[in-house]
Amino acid sequence: MVTRQKNLDDIPEHEQNLIPIYGRDAMEKPVPKYELPEHSLDPDVAYNLIHDELMLDGNARLNLATFVTTWMEPQAQRLMAETFDKNMIDKDEYPFTAAIEERCINIVTRLFHAPETGVGASAIGSSEAVMLAGMALKWRWRDRMKKKGKPTDKPNLVMGNNVQVVWEKFARYWEVEPRYIEMEPNQYFITPKGVLDVVDENTIGVVPILGVTYTGAFEPVEAIHDALVEHNAKTGHDIPMHVDAASGGFVAPFLQPELKWDFRLPLVKSINVSGHKYGLVYPGVGWVAWRSHEDLPKDLVFHVNYLGGDMPTFTLNFSRPGNQVIAQYYNFIRLGREGYTRVFEQMRDTATYLSSAIEKMERFDLLSRGDTIPVFAFALKDSSKYTVYDLSDKLREHGWQVPAYTMPPKVDDLAVLRICVREGFSRDLADMLLKHLGDAIRHFEAQPSYAPKQPDKTGKVHRNC
Ligand SMILES: *Cc1c(COP(=O)(O)O)cnc(C)c1O
Repeated sequence: MVTRQKNLDDIPEHEQNLIPIYGRDAMEKPVPKYELPEHSLDPDVAYNLIHDELMLDGNARLNLATFVTTWMEPQAQRLMAETFDKNMIDKDEYPFTAAIEERCINIVTRLFHAPETGVGASAIGSSEAVMLAGMALKWRWRDRMKKKGKPTDKPNLVMGNNVQVVWEKFARYWEVEPRYIEMEPNQYFITPKGVLDVVDENTIGVVPILGVTYTGAFEPVEAIHDALVEHNAKTGHDIPMHVDAASGGFVAPFLQPELKWDFRLPLVKSINVSGHKYGLVYPGVGWVAWRSHEDLPKDLVFHVNYLGGDMPTFTLNFSRPGNQVIAQYYNFIRLGREGYTRVFEQMRDTATYLSSAIEKMERFDLLSRGDTIPVFAFALKDSSKYTVYDLSDKLREHGWQVPAYTMPPKVDDLAVLRICVREGFSRDLADMLLKHLGDAIRHFEAQPSYAPKQPDKTGKVHRNC
């Protein structure tokens, strides 16, 4: 043990902050981890300790697993930092933050061609938005059944087994039977026929996805809609639709404005979209939009007066940050239709450039190309010598996070890699990724006796982004 020239306690207080941060006593003591420490810590030391530990996390910009925004303009970051103290629920105290939220809801509902604009809510992400929309479907179905004098104890929800985990949660938490349509080899989305095979009068709604988590594909919303219109007319059912547009909702209006998937289709009663995915905002903001007031049951909306005023709210949370909503509004007015279009064109071009280059490597089958949303998945033609899990691990050595996972039940013998291109991912980075993928292939092909890595047997599926 080396003795110090001076103990920290002997140094006068006004001189203590002259000690270099990494020369301070606390830097050579263990950091409290699981119990509230008895004493306070110098803020510089606390900051650096935590900052340094987080260096061991992956680099968010190289995380090609996530759909969620990892880059925003410095002006947006400044605005967010200035508004960390705004609580979204305090609408009376922060009336301008509340007004901005309302403007965003108007912008979103208009973008989706709602006949009645402004019926919606902000949420912490699509997951909360889905819970709200799902409840509205269940309430509306119950009202319909009560009017007909029919039982209301067996609601079901029709969707593909490729849904994001939030729909499984919704079904379990709100006691709705999830009626999954299974995927078929080479067809990883639901079809009108698949839907018509399973709907009945207890179906609270049908949920197609605009941007399937596994592949980025758009499910055929309009074809499903038209089939359902016919089915309703024939049977007297009144089955509505909700579109899970978590990832596609902010892309389709700009890259495929003619594509009918939104409120232009009369049976589409509600839509969720993640502001923190292709709304291009840092996490946590999402939106839920209803077609009209009629589709949002009044008894789901609460009115509170203890913050002053009378405020209608439909949320699962009470307090939550207001700054993400403010950042969403920043993007709306900063980018406009022109800016969003430009950004998505760049992302689509980068994604399709990458997917074509990967196809040319002749080792992979593409499941999608990145031309709907800039997300695509690809599988190895031959997994006998090395697998997508090996390639994923090898890319990680360079910092890239490219997830390898199996497809949904019934087609889960297929394992794929998926790449989500986001704002901040340039052609230049794409070329480096391609080089590293090529190197990884050469690495494994140079070792004929290598034992390929197999999927995680716990059955853990990579669908949490
Ligand atoms: C990401 C995603 C969700 C969940 O959205 P969050 O905003 O992360 O809560 C739901 N559905 C689909 C299709 C998604 O891609």
